[in-house]
Amino acid sequence: MTHLLHRSIHTPPRHAVAAKGLHFTDSAGRDYIDASGGAAVSCLGHAHPDVIAALHAQLDRLAYAHTGFFTTDVAEELADTLIADAPEGLSHVYLVSGGSEAVEAALKMARQYFTETGQPQRRHIIARRQSYHGNTLGALAAGGNEWRRAQFKPLLMQAHHIAPCFAYREQWAGESDAEYAARAAAELEAKILELGADTVAAFVAEPVVGATAGAVPAVGDYFKRIRAICDKYGVLLILDEVMCGMGRTGSLYACEQDGISPDLLTIAKGLGGGYQPIGATLLSQKIYDAFAQGSGFFQHGHTYMGHPMAAAAGLAVQKVIRDDKLLDNVQAMGAELRHQLHAAFGQHAHVGDIRGRGLFQAIELVEDRQTKAPFDPSRKLHARIKAEAMARGLMVYPMGGTIDGVRGDHVLLAPPFIVTAADVAEITGRLAEAVNAALQP
Ligand code: PMP
Repeated sequence: MTHLLHRSIHTPPRHAVAAKGLHFTDSAGRDYIDASGGAAVSCLGHAHPDVIAALHAQLDRLAYAHTGFFTTDVAEELADTLIADAPEGLSHVYLVSGGSEAVEAALKMARQYFTETGQPQRRHIIARRQSYHGNTLGALAAGGNEWRRAQFKPLLMQAHHIAPCFAYREQWAGESDAEYAARAAAELEAKILELGADTVAAFVAEPVVGATAGAVPAVGDYFKRIRAICDKYGVLLILDEVMCGMGRTGSLYACEQDGISPDLLTIAKGLGGGYQPIGATLLSQKIYDAFAQGSGFFQHGHTYMGHPMAAAAGLAVQKVIRDDKLLDNVQAMGAELRHQLHAAFGQHAHVGDIRGRGLFQAIELVEDRQTKAPFDPSRKLHARIKAEAMARGLMVYPMGGTIDGVRGDHVLLAPPFIVTAADVAEITGRLAEAVNAALQP
C-alpha cells in the first residue's frame, strides 16, 4: 500500500535507489541503462561530481532567498551564461521551476507586452495540433494534444491550432520540402487573418517536437517563413525548447539550426539536467524595454523562482557542457545513434520512420509501412515496448495511441550527452529486442 499517488495507479513505477553515469539501480538491485534521460532531462547523466560539488557549496552558502527581497550571484551568473550564447535579440532571463512554468510566463509576457504597448486587443494564442507545452492550465490550453486536453477543456482558455510541420505524416507525395514548408507555414498566415491580424498575441511552437510526436524537426525553411509571418503581422514568436533545447539537438538552442530567433524562448529539462527543478523564459530586448518603460515590472511570479539551489545546478550543468565541449559529442553520437537505428530498424516491417536531430531521435511504429497505418491504439504498443525495454534494463520514452488518431506509436531516445559508441550499440540492441517482443501477438 502506497500513500503516494503515482501517475499510473495500476502499474506503479519501479523503485529507483541510485544512479550514476548512464545507469540506474532499482530496489531489487537491477541495472537500467538510461537512454532517454527520463524525458530528455539528464543531459550529463547521473551523479556528475562537478554538479554535486556545486550544489554542496551552494547549500552551505545560501539555500534560499526570495526574489522579492534578494538576487543572488548564481542566478545572475546563470542569466549571463544563457544570454551570452542565446539567439540574437534575447536579452533577459526569467528563472522558474520547470517547463510548464516557463511556458506560462512566456504566454503572460506576450500578453503584457501588448497591454504595455497600447494594443490590449491582442489576446489570441495560436499553436499547433498534436503539440504539448505543459500541463498547467495555460500551457495545456495552448497545446494541441487532444488526449491530454479532452477532460479539462471546460477549464481551458481559448487557443487556436494549425497543422504541425510533420513531413512523415503530412507531406504530400511528390511535394518538395520547400513546397511543404510553404504550405504548412501558410496555415499560420491564414489563421492570423481569420482571427483578425491585430487581435493575435503570439504563436508558440517547438522547433523539434518532442513528447507528442517523437523528435520531429521542421523541414526546409518552415521556421524562417513562420518568423516572417509573425513579423508581418506584429505577432510574437514563442519557441518552446523545454525538451529540445540546451544542446539536445547538437546546438545549444535548437532554433539556431533553423536560422531564426524568437521573441520569447522557453527552456527547462536539460537546463538543470535533473539535478534541481529549473526552467527559464528568455525574452527579447524589445519585450524587456516595453516592461521597463511601461509599468516597470512583470506581473507574475512564484515563490521558488530564481531558487539559488536550482540556479547553482543550472550553472554547473551549463559549465560542464561548455568546458567538456559536450556538444561535439552530441553531434558525433547523434550521428552514431542514427546510424545504429537505421541498421537495426531501417528494414523493419513495422518501423515507418526514423527521425530526429542530435541526441534526440525517434522511431515511429506502424502496422503497415506502405500505408503508414498506425497500430490500433487499444493495443497500447508504446506501453508494451516500455515494459519490454524495462525488463531488458533499458529506459526509453515510448508514446502513442492518442485520440488525435493521426500517427503511430513512437519511441523517443534522448541519452545523456556523455554517451559512447559502445553505449549506443547496447541501447539499440536492447531496443530492437524490446520492440520485437512487444510486437508479438
Ligand atoms: N514544453 C515541452 C515542449 C515539454 O516537452 C514539456 C515537458 N514534457 C513541457 C513544456 C512541460 O514541462 P514540465 O513538465 O517541466 O512542466
